[in-house]
Amino acid sequence: MIQEQQIILRTPAKVNLSLDITGRRADGYHTLSSVFQAIDCYDTLTIRRIENDAPMTLCCQAEGVPCDSRNLVYRAAQRLLQAEEPRGIAMTLEKNIPSQAGMGGGSSDCAAALLGIRALLGLSVSDKALSELAASLGADVPFFLCGGTALAEGIGEILTPITDVPERILVVAKGREGVSTPEGYRKLDRLEEPLPMYTKAVLDALHTTQPQRLFAACGNAFDAVTNLREIRKIRLVMSSCGVKPVLSGSGAAVFGGCETMTQAAHLEQLLQGMDFVRICKTIPYGVQQYGTDGIWHSL
Ligand code: ATP
Repeated sequence: MIQEQQIILRTPAKVNLSLDITGRRADGYHTLSSVFQAIDCYDTLTIRRIENDAPMTLCCQAEGVPCDSRNLVYRAAQRLLQAEEPRGIAMTLEKNIPSQAGMGGGSSDCAAALLGIRALLGLSVSDKALSELAASLGADVPFFLCGGTALAEGIGEILTPITDVPERILVVAKGREGVSTPEGYRKLDRLEEPLPMYTKAVLDALHTTQPQRLFAACGNAFDAVTNLREIRKIRLVMSSCGVKPVLSGSGAAVFGGCETMTQAAHLEQLLQGMDFVRICKTIPYGVQQYGTDGIWHSL
């Protein structure tokens, strides 16, 4: 049998169509109820076999992204290969998903590393064991093993996939500033009024044939406590076009649902000054592998 020498993966970003804070565990972690949605904005991870005893390398040119064990891709390899200094593979990561955005870039890359290394090296690790490993690497990582649309509960690790969700058009934008997730949670804890809840309405509207009904239902508890200058600007621009701005994760990316590509293109134009702006479509899959037939396939 011919052994594959390399595997090319695309790793999608996500937005949270809703994010409700439902409580706080004894260990201090907040529990949430959130509808995760994968979108067609991808990083690319290439994994190559090298000599069995050659030390693993990770190369990434993106500013501010570490190439050592601080990178979730590196950590995924350490855990899967059960070695502090893994050997036999070289990885290259091309970033398109902005960091500190709430779009799950690092988590998605991590899921891709788990799936990609298992496939390339033919490791006999069950799906269940891989999911458990994913959850131990980060609460958002298991979502990207399947992607699509899913209800996340607990601290994000209890996932219920949701099928047959119609494709939607979103404009996603982010300024230069990032947000601190712990600071966001501290601000939420200090709020006196009850937090708004969006998840139930989003679940009810997910399969609607009227996109506006879904977009109106979307919302995020962090919206109330996240007020950076660039986020305010994005909100203003989206609202002026009749698009409801919603934070993704704990920010700093903001997305808005659009009914038509024309509306999305207009909004994208107005947001050109931002560090990141992209028209995205929702997708029903997670990490994918580039096949010899030139088509992307789910693993
Ligand atoms: P989330 O949506 O899960 O809140 P995020 O928006 O904070 O994620 P990430 O892309 O996951 O954004 O990166 C956050 C930080 O994690 C970065 O500043 C970087 O130092 C570190 N990091 C670790 N692994 C990666 C990776 N593979 N890609 C990008 N950043 C990574």
